[in-house]
Amino acid sequence: MEMRVLEVKAKSALNRSGMVELDYAFNAYLGCAHGCRYCYAADITPGESPETWGDTVSVRTNIIEVLQREIKSKRRGLVGISTITDPYQPIEAKYRLSRQAIILLLANGFRVSIQTKSPLVLRDLDILRGKKGLDAGVSLATPDKEISRLIDRKSPLPDARIRTLRELSRNMIKTWMFLGPIIPGINDTDESIEALISMASDLKIRVIYDLLNPYSGARSMLGETLGSGWGSSMKTLDRRKWWENREATITRLAGQYNVECNSETSELSAETGILYKPLY
Ligand code: SF4
Repeated sequence: MEMRVLEVKAKSALNRSGMVELDYAFNAYLGCAHGCRYCYAADITPGESPETWGDTVSVRTNIIEVLQREIKSKRRGLVGISTITDPYQPIEAKYRLSRQAIILLLANGFRVSIQTKSPLVLRDLDILRGKKGLDAGVSLATPDKEISRLIDRKSPLPDARIRTLRELSRNMIKTWMFLGPIIPGINDTDESIEALISMASDLKIRVIYDLLNPYSGARSMLGETLGSGWGSSMKTLDRRKWWENREATITRLAGQYNVECNSETSELSAETGILYKPLY
């Protein structure tokens, strides 16, 4: 099915984020062409549903004007770009809204944290290179192309994302890998986690990791993709024990490969520490 693009108007640009480490969320797009099967945004994006997730992207065409107005009065802080969509999904090549927002925010004393799965972010190296107050993360759930096609659906493949991490890091950008979401029975093996942590070690970047958020939409999309056997195994899983075990493995591998690894939940304290330290 061809993706539908809608042009809509934004009422606000800098919104409160559900992520404790961020002061604001900036989302130029609603919906995401990547259509990942585990995406929590399918549950919380206005007008979206798990059944149609990945089919439509709404472009908030006036968001830069709204942002220009809002930054005059908003307290300076850390802005996540983006939190319920990929800021560098294909449509950004045409509209360039994420790029314009980053320029504006950095010029006005805000810190910016980018999270994407797309090499399109490299188009903007000219505005990102060596910038203080900026970091960029690339998400990787698995190094495996086949598994990626299943769960990351239309996102760029893992190799493209690893190249993106390498280029960002080479360009003096504070770079991190988001390792996740870690999904029981899919990408939670020691081998899969070790492959990603060893890549982070090669690239000398830090890792933020998290498990699958138990949103009902994500569970139903994954259930549809992975089959009823996976759904039944989720019902009997002792989630707490499973995660304790996976975190123990991550901690061991982080030590072995000398990589700084923070869970998404401990990220607030890590970010708070960074706020008071020079970025380089
Ligand atoms: S790239 Fe991010 S926002 Fe887009 S569908 Fe995947 S997880 Fe959701």
